Amino acid sequence: MKRFLKFWGTRGSCPVSGPEYLHFGGNTACLELRYDPVHIVFDAGTGIRPLGKILMKDKVTKIDLFLSHTHWDHLLGFPFFELIYQNDVSITIWSPPTTGRSCKELFKELLAPEFFPMRLSELQANLQFKVYSENTPLQMGPITISFHKVNHPGVTYCFKIQTPHQIIGYTTDNELNIPFGKEEKSIIEFFRGADLLIHEAQYFTEEYVQKKGWGHSSLLGAMEFVEKTEAKKWLVSHHDPAHTDEDLVHLSTLALQRSSIPSEWLRDGQVIELR
Ligand SMILES: [Zn+2]
Ligand SMILES: [Zn+2]
Repeated sequence: MKRFLKFWGTRGSCPVSGPEYLHFGGNTACLELRYDPVHIVFDAGTGIRPLGKILMKDKVTKIDLFLSHTHWDHLLGFPFFELIYQNDVSITIWSPPTTGRSCKELFKELLAPEFFPMRLSELQANLQFKVYSENTPLQMGPITISFHKVNHPGVTYCFKIQTPHQIIGYTTDNELNIPFGKEEKSIIEFFRGADLLIHEAQYFTEEYVQKKGWGHSSLLGAMEFVEKTEAKKWLVSHHDPAHTDEDLVHLSTLALQRSSIPSEWLRDGQVIELR
């Protein structure tokens, strides 16, 4: 019985490579949740490319892909996800509710001839597009997934995953304004008491002053938020592309010194076993 989270991409905004990123890695947002018989992927950043290789090897033919939002760093890996070129594969793509263009229209554009050699209609896999809703949790086998809007440009959601034994919160992009207002308080209630809370801390507190309104949190904001949720453990993903391994170690050390919640900065390929 396999029960785990695997972080295939822990970088935010833009993929990076080079000797200064070797420890944490450079692939953008992609998280695999395996809780047999449920197999889900969150976000299709460049981390979904290496995930696809493993899923091919394991002969996986059905997958649900949940998108937090449709910014590039959460979509860029999709054209390189090998499963989309297999005719015995079914993929359900779950996107946030939007008043603008549908997710299918956006994917058509992502695969427009000016951007990529294959059209959406030419992909071999059976793709189904569905929209999740804030007011309707989804039951998938033993797992319940709920959705909450976050503070990030465009329509962006975070996820709460409830297994029979644990509550896991997953937020890639969320700007926390201090002091917390109605929006922050509502997300705190949503995640209250989580066993594992994944939440970004993209900027050093001093850096944030220059980057207010960009849709990401400072270390200070994230620490205060996580403490208020009373989560048991804080996992940090969606690292800033400007931050080297050294910077991320510095951020994580500051969090360990200053926050009462145990924390860990995640790296590409990291596995967290679930109960
Ligand atoms: Zn992002
Ligand atoms: Zn974004």
